[in-house]
Amino acid sequence: MKKIASFCVNHDTLKKGMYLSRIDGDISTWDIRMCLPNSGNYLDMSTCHSFEHLFATIARNSLWHQQIIYIGPMGCRTGFYFLTRNMTAAEALDLFRDILQQIASYNGDIPGSSRQECGNYLEHDLNGAKKIAADMAKVLADWTAEKMQY
Ligand SMILES: [Zn+2]
Repeated sequence: MKKIASFCVNHDTLKKGMYLSRIDGDISTWDIRMCLPNSGNYLDMSTCHSFEHLFATIARNSLWHQQIIYIGPMGCRTGFYFLTRNMTAAEALDLFRDILQQIASYNGDIPGSSRQECGNYLEHDLNGAKKIAADMAKVLADWTAEKMQY
């Protein structure tokens, strides 16, 4: 089988950040890299899970909600995939930065975290999600559309 594009990125030189992975028509796939690859330091499952619930809920309640296609964790637990429609790099970056601020300061119940709403409702960590949001907000504070190219 052919090697897919995301496996062609050199993970040994990859830094934390937000990168454009691919464009399919009007859909852009953003790689949100939150941990250094193969550093021994990965998002723990409960942190990742709560961040996903908050990320998806906030994005789908934003002004850009009609342009949000998909949000989900990377299986390697180093970040997230974020798919948007008809958004520029600067717009996707600004939206994600805004989402990070909202997660970092979030108080209350994690959206969709009841037994009826979630497939593993006990595995959540709101404080962990807030911590990684605050960390990533720092990483992206001076990030630009130009830096989003691999
Ligand atoms: Zn869930």
